[in-house]
Amino acid sequence: MNTPTSVPAKPQATALGYPRIGPNRELKRALEAHWSGRLDAAGLEAAAASVRSGMLDDLSVLDTVPSGTFSLYDHVLDTIVAVDALAPRHRRETELASYFAAARGDEAAVPLEMTKWFDTNYHYLVPEIGPDTEFDAKPAKAVAEFLEAKERGLDARPVLLGPVSFLLLAKASEDAPAEFTPFDRLDDLVPVYVELLAALREAGAALVQVDEPALCADRSEAELAAVAATYRRLTADTEIVVAGGYGPFGEALPVLLEAGVAGIALDLVRGRSDLEALEALDVSRETYLLAGVVDGRNIWRTDLANAGADIARLQGISDRVGVSSSSSLLHVPVDLDAEHELPAALIERLAFARQKLREITTLADPDGARAARPQAPDAWRDDSVRSRLAALGADADRRIPYAERQAAQAERVPLPVLPTTTIGSFPQTAELRNARAAHRRGLMIDADYKARMKAEVAAVIAEQEKLGLDVLVHGEPERNDMVQYFAEQLTGFATTAAGWVQSYGSRCVRPPVLYGDVTRTAPMTVEWTSYAQSLTEKPVKGMLTGPVTILAWSFVRDDQPLSETADQVALALRDEVTDLEAAGTAIIQVDEPALRELLPVRAASRAAYRDWATRSFRLATAGVRPETAIHTHLCYSEFGEVIDAIAALDADVTSIEASRSKMEVLADLDRANYRSAVGPGVWDIHSPRVPAADDMAEALRLAVAALGPERVWANPDCGLKTRRYEEVRPSLEGLVAAARTVREQL
Ligand code: GLN
Ligand code: ZN
Repeated sequence: MNTPTSVPAKPQATALGYPRIGPNRELKRALEAHWSGRLDAAGLEAAAASVRSGMLDDLSVLDTVPSGTFSLYDHVLDTIVAVDALAPRHRRETELASYFAAARGDEAAVPLEMTKWFDTNYHYLVPEIGPDTEFDAKPAKAVAEFLEAKERGLDARPVLLGPVSFLLLAKASEDAPAEFTPFDRLDDLVPVYVELLAALREAGAALVQVDEPALCADRSEAELAAVAATYRRLTADTEIVVAGGYGPFGEALPVLLEAGVAGIALDLVRGRSDLEALEALDVSRETYLLAGVVDGRNIWRTDLANAGADIARLQGISDRVGVSSSSSLLHVPVDLDAEHELPAALIERLAFARQKLREITTLADPDGARAARPQAPDAWRDDSVRSRLAALGADADRRIPYAERQAAQAERVPLPVLPTTTIGSFPQTAELRNARAAHRRGLMIDADYKARMKAEVAAVIAEQEKLGLDVLVHGEPERNDMVQYFAEQLTGFATTAAGWVQSYGSRCVRPPVLYGDVTRTAPMTVEWTSYAQSLTEKPVKGMLTGPVTILAWSFVRDDQPLSETADQVALALRDEVTDLEAAGTAIIQVDEPALRELLPVRAASRAAYRDWATRSFRLATAGVRPETAIHTHLCYSEFGEVIDAIAALDADVTSIEASRSKMEVLADLDRANYRSAVGPGVWDIHSPRVPAADDMAEALRLAVAALGPERVWANPDCGLKTRRYEEVRPSLEGLVAAARTVREQL
């Protein structure tokens, strides 16, 4: 064991990374101006420099600051550039043009694929690496940003995304042989990192932070051996602190230490098991240990007493302890002081990025006050929800098996085989957005706004009747966002004025804050659905967002397990489902597009997640009679680890993204014993292309071959809100025609 040699030195305050879109989304505006041709490259660079400068202003309260965590679009794309691995199809005349070609595509080339970053709602660009991808060190950005910080007199620590994570996050380029994986190229990439590190040392960097978030996931023996070899080489000449940020390093922890890293940045919010693991290891007292006690993923104030205790434990292990955020602060909004409408009791409990930096400096100050976090006020508690949930118990499932429900539903709503429908939203036209903005600013009174939205519903219903769809939707024009719309009507939620968080590139989201017990005070959607139904003889689906997705896209209270919070949301939705049913709605769709997103990074935690996530969905939906159909919608392409969960939702119909994976998901669902109906998306709505009716018919034939005609629905991949009517009309016409063609051939 390690015995302290002296009084612990004052810990250094730092953070692993910082929001980079600007406190008022300045970068977003500059990017959009640049893309539309209103701002030239120099103008964009000036805006970016000002955002970087603001980041350093904020970070300068720390003892040491991360440098290089700014990005014009995405830090994984920055890494692609740093190792010079841009695909040939994205190479343009200028570096900036190449960068945006890779990020967004242009007439000449499709962009890189985008996918979710670990269990967050941030999306990164997926590097395409092949056996022949050439790597070369391009340290310009990292060096320039380091010097920017240094010239201000800041003690800066450059941050790079590490080679192991970079390759594990990559996908094989299209021309690669089937057995190739990008990770095979590690030996070729490491020398490039050696050069990048050398350039940073030459610029004066004494310590470099290398992010290896992929080590927060389960890794094979072979991968860990490669980690060991990699870090032996990288640490030969450079002092490196390795950061994860998305849970414990687990088995990678001793591997990194033995490889000779100077330090480890620990995620002590989600990866607390690393603390005990470290105490059991023989760690040199020289090891730089960053205590990531301030949550980089959520917006609650830190319990400074608990955090102080963790810091003290690390000081029992090492003489070089720092205080930090658990991950980059990228995932939280910039400044709580921009919020003027939030209740005082909530403000007192929140910390955005700037406030978190203050918490870090307080914790690093041996004389800083370390108050425990106060309990939530009584007013945030609602015992009626808790007792209702307790009374419902664990068993809230549907009583009748799918086959019998299906018969009852078919009798209630007779439909042709291969019924056609859409996922819910119709195009959000500029006119709708303007009306919403005017209403929000108080320039349009409630009654006018509502009338405008009702007119839109009527137009959407007429549109669908004309197209000949079988099951209609009201189009969701009244919803600003599929989570916020519900958050605004439920108790226990608050919405922020400026709590923007980068989702990808210039796109930001403003997650609601779920702070207290959740209840529904009045029906939230019934009026809209009933109005739509009053306009047509065809069935109109009710449309709700599921409990898991509501949690995934909010900042959620961390004083009780997510499962309990999910059940409260589910109970509120259950009441809504009941009211929709009572109003005569025969089909109710509960969307869970984020079911995959919250899946834990480590396999060991996944079963528990699948249990509570699917239970909360059933709690929300299973209160209906057998003849009422429950639909759900999921949209992402990696179903593997949640395929059993999809079956466990026990929905009557699941519409699912399938057009890009060529219907492969159907065989997977079958293996997972999924027996109800499926609407495999036959139109990839993420592309502006109008799909050919023949292609959609072919996709439907594949689905019919896999599932039998009785279990197949015809629908797009996702909602249509981002599409224009010019694309939607011909595409849906084709979809209806395709269903008809295949029907006739049965
Ligand atoms: N019903 C929602 C819509 O159609 C679903 C959105 C989603 O899957 N993300 O927009
Ligand atoms: Zn979707």
